[in-house]
Amino acid sequence: MVSLSMHPSPSILHRIQGTCYNTHMAIITQLFDLICFRCGECCRRYQVLLDRTGIALLSKHMGLSTEDFRRRYADPRWPGTNTCLVQQINGSCPFLRGEGREFLCTVHLNKPQPCRDWAASPAKLECQRGLQKLWKLTVDSSGHLQGMPEDISAFQGFLNTCAKEE
Ligand code: SF4
Ligand code: SF4
Repeated sequence: MVSLSMHPSPSILHRIQGTCYNTHMAIITQLFDLICFRCGECCRRYQVLLDRTGIALLSKHMGLSTEDFRRRYADPRWPGTNTCLVQQINGSCPFLRGEGREFLCTVHLNKPQPCRDWAASPAKLECQRGLQKLWKLTVDSSGHLQGMPEDISAFQGFLNTCAKEE
């Protein structure tokens, strides 16, 4: 995934994962490190860059020709011809749907490779933003969740639901 406001670089997909520590909170942090809690912040922050395979897969998924897919979803600012930068609509990837505390990828079965490579982590600013916005939780400098006990408990319950569905 790339952001036009930054220099597109695959390195953004390889940020350092958060570290877990041996406290009670580490259990939550460790789970959080492994499970995406579906806040959708990364799908708002970045635009997905598709290669030829990604374009073909998503076109087929949507029942469109690759030309029609490009006409509908390509960001015209992107200069690449073999690649396609998915244009955002209303501030997010056009394939993101949801409300409240849960936002899902509607093309999950054919999710682009950059999205598959992106993993949730307490070290990622996007995940931290989602935690703050949707759960009123923060991550301290040691990688521990901070917040009201009832908010942490609600979040943990939601993570358990996500884990069962994965
Ligand atoms: S394709 Fe799916 S996972 Fe990737 S940015 Fe769009 S909504 Fe998010
Ligand atoms: S920002 Fe993190 S938790 Fe939110 S959808 Fe993206 S990976 Fe998942």
